[in-house]
Amino acid sequence: MVVTTELVGLIHMTTRPFHNLLLPRIAVLLVLGALPSCAEPAAPVHGGAGTSPTQKSRPPEKRPDSSYRPPRGFTELQSVAGRVARASGHKIVWRLQPGANPGPLVRIRGTVNDCTIFVHPLAARKVPPNTWAFLFGHEFAHLTENLGTHSATSPENELQADITGARYAMAAGYRIEAFLGWVLTEPDQKSDSHGSLHQRVRAIARKFGVPWRTIERESKRAASYRAGR
Ligand SMILES: [Zn+2]
Repeated sequence: MVVTTELVGLIHMTTRPFHNLLLPRIAVLLVLGALPSCAEPAAPVHGGAGTSPTQKSRPPEKRPDSSYRPPRGFTELQSVAGRVARASGHKIVWRLQPGANPGPLVRIRGTVNDCTIFVHPLAARKVPPNTWAFLFGHEFAHLTENLGTHSATSPENELQADITGARYAMAAGYRIEAFLGWVLTEPDQKSDSHGSLHQRVRAIARKFGVPWRTIERESKRAASYRAGR
């Protein structure tokens, strides 16, 4: 049975405030001609197998952290999605495409055998790769766990997709505390279909045993990252 589903992830609740926060800033950058190009050369990757003497002498806190930097182009987002899909333990046939603008931050259509993830084109250049890992995990979990669609979901399903998706992202090596800190920088929102965003953060933190003070610390870093963009 092939059913076309249209799902929006954890952030379907946060799309509007996210764009309210982000888009005016991007508009200013566009006016100033200061928006970084997607074609800018990729920065060197640190923390890989080979470490040069220069990199060794570099303080760890100066190294690029995928929690607090923009993606290095669309190919990095594809790489993140691929890692999360592989870590899920499911065979997921997926593709990534720029979504609509204006439009949701992320959504997925299709089935595990053939799905398309749409990412907001501006967010694709701004939201850190670590955050994308959990958003992709949430979307994949909707399909692997049959957790309903955007129009027919529930707070229970959303939390389950959060938890299952977080397992995928963590198995792929991404940091849940940084992701939860990032979500906390979004205004809380409540809806019948999705519950309270910040309550979901608390529930996920409890599930994985992440101390609240750790998330608050990460949230401050996420807020300063956003302020500096
Ligand atoms: Zn969802």
